[in-house]
Amino acid sequence: MLLEATSLSRRYGGIAAVDAVDFSLHEGEVRAIIGPNGAGKTTLAGMICGRIEPTAGSIRFENEDITRASAPARVLRGIAYTFQVTSIYRNLSCFDNVALAAGRWITGERAVAEAVTEALARVGLSGDAARLAGVLPYGHQRLLEVAMALALKPKLLIMDEPTQGLAPAEIVAFCDLVRDVATSATVLIIEHNLKVVLELASRITVMDGGRIIAEGTPDEIEQHPAVKLAYLG
Ligand code: ATP
Repeated sequence: MLLEATSLSRRYGGIAAVDAVDFSLHEGEVRAIIGPNGAGKTTLAGMICGRIEPTAGSIRFENEDITRASAPARVLRGIAYTFQVTSIYRNLSCFDNVALAAGRWITGERAVAEAVTEALARVGLSGDAARLAGVLPYGHQRLLEVAMALALKPKLLIMDEPTQGLAPAEIVAFCDLVRDVATSATVLIIEHNLKVVLELASRITVMDGGRIIAEGTPDEIEQHPAVKLAYLG
């Protein structure tokens, strides 16, 4: 098991955003988390990457307890993430954006440059390395963010709503990218586009009301009565 969360909870006052969830990831899988707005998806992912502190429960990564580890400490262990809102520096070149991200974790100018070049190539932005990030079309800015995460050479890449705002052709390219990333890392995506989820995920976790209400292969999830009711309508 790459990651194992046990009885994980996050309360905000009287609301349990995530309510005693058991969640685990196998190495090499592409996992999607789906569910209605407010289901607790972002909160669960935030606790895994260390941005949100759990109020109860534990998380193990590669058999070590990381429940209290900071987000930077988790990046060093191999957990990288991209957010719903892009976090690029618009006035820096694409190369420098990725170098800034990679330089926080990788030492040596040459090693950083190599990691940046490789990450940009992987997302198809080699030709844009010298361009200002702010002038890229939105879809390419999202790819740049994925490059920033990939430059960290993660074991687990977490992406929160990565296809939001992408054009259909960009979504196709994004799916190809995820399949490529999945050859070297485990991928966890929170995704509203069910077509993308069914196409990419090896397993799907369905959340509602802070709990996991179903988990299975895309075929199983499509057929699940609780899922049809709560999510697919
Ligand atoms: P969406 O698809 O809209 O992003 P989600 O499934 O990611 O939703 P969360 O963002 O994890 O859901 O939110 C779960 C619940 O916790 C919601 O009821 C939300 O209002 C609440 N919540 C999340 N963050 C906070 C916070 N910082 N303070 C108070 N309540 C919060």
